Amino acid sequence: MPAFSLDPEQITWCAELRALAAERLKPLAEKGEPGRVNRPLVAALGELGLLARLFDAGALDLCLLRESLAQVCTEAETALALQGLGTHPVAAFGSPAQRARWLPEATAGRAVAAFALTEPGAGSDAAALALDAVPDGRGGWRLHGEKQWISNAPEADFATVFARTTRGAGARGVTAFLVPSDRPGLGGEPLDMLSPHALGTLTFDGVPVGPEDLLGEPDRGFRVAMHTLNLFRPSVGAFAVGMAQAALDAALAHTAARPAFGGRLADLQAVAHRIAEMATRTEAARLLVYAAATAYDEGNPHNTADTDVPRRSAMAKLLATETAQYVVDSAVQLHGARALQRGHLLEHLYREVRAPRIYEGATEVQRTIIARELYASHRRERAREGAPYEEEPSPGDGRDTTSHAEEPTS
Ligand SMILES: Cc1cc2nc3c(=O)[nH]c(=O)nc-3n(C[C@H](O)[C@H](O)[C@H](O)COP(=O)(O)OP(=O)(O)OC[C@H]3O[C@@H](n4cnc5c(N)ncnc54)[C@H](O)[C@@H]3O)c2cc1C
Repeated sequence: MPAFSLDPEQITWCAELRALAAERLKPLAEKGEPGRVNRPLVAALGELGLLARLFDAGALDLCLLRESLAQVCTEAETALALQGLGTHPVAAFGSPAQRARWLPEATAGRAVAAFALTEPGAGSDAAALALDAVPDGRGGWRLHGEKQWISNAPEADFATVFARTTRGAGARGVTAFLVPSDRPGLGGEPLDMLSPHALGTLTFDGVPVGPEDLLGEPDRGFRVAMHTLNLFRPSVGAFAVGMAQAALDAALAHTAARPAFGGRLADLQAVAHRIAEMATRTEAARLLVYAAATAYDEGNPHNTADTDVPRRSAMAKLLATETAQYVVDSAVQLHGARALQRGHLLEHLYREVRAPRIYEGATEVQRTIIARELYASHRRERAREGAPYEEEPSPGDGRDTTSHAEEPTS
């Protein structure tokens, strides 16, 4: 059943989160060094119990967390989400020893996590990843290669790293490892991004890993990636909705107050209609995000082929991130020049809002997933009705890199 409205406890919790973000987290975010991991901020997220909540909450709670923090402090939102993305594979697939070593540290905000899937040659087409896991002859492997655009790299204390253990096997030859940052041969560099996101490369020069570092089974690492991304995809939409709401609130306040042409900007119908459009699209995106998260919580995320979770998640991520871009851009327009001044909220949001349309599956990839799920459901429906089998065209054009449920894109 989709969530059409939140219950009173959830609404109160969101208000508390916004207050915490304003009073406790934003001051720490403002003291952080742009482009570097803000450890005091991560520690505060731990002290406030928000990181622990990541691992006992469902998808809807994760969305409410991300939306509420994003509305007030995008740095806190992003620090929280990245800690979740890097640690979720340990929580869901780690051995008792791995969980005992890393979960208390990660949830307290003392250890910083990363999720390392993307490579220079494998972004959307994550199944093409080439980080080489070479058997060491003693039951372990040596990792050789590079990861790129990895949030929290190279400063993270541990990373979930996806490496190729079987060549030529596509998604089925990938293994997930938990790699602590003190392993010999592990390096990396920070990258300077449009938005000052802590992000960089990881380089692997014969980094040793053993069976005790496995997350899940050898050659089943894409299951680990898919499980994590299916949970986090709607919540990227929630991050976007939070940013859209912040931009809308700012535009509403500004246009209601700004004198123009003998009245206020809000008196101009073109302005008022733009505000109405921004609000309507933001609300539509929010509802789609809540519905996708609820479907995840109520469905069986392990058996994605038999549920509508992938379609709903992709729709939510697609609509919310594109909507946020529209709403933030509109808010900039309605503010005029002041929005472009360095340090203005909208200058910040304008830079922040761009990346979510690219990561965790670009907008175009989400459309491919949606179309694939629609056609698959149509075929199942026809088969149930006893229709003769017909070859149906694959959606999209050219090579469909997302054609298997176990082949996610990063
Ligand atoms: C701020 C930020 C944080 C990130 N954090 C992480 C992280 O923590 N861990 C991690 O592993 N990665 C991370 N990434 C990397 C991210 O997941 C990749 O950038 C993303 O998967 C896209 O890969 P790419 O950049 O190589 O683009 P490409 O795969 O080269 O794609 C470029 C463009 O081609 C188009 N395109 C690609 N595939 C298709 C398709 N099937 N159909 C139609 N059009 C298509 C899209 O327009 C796409 O944007 C991060 C990226 C950013 C910007």
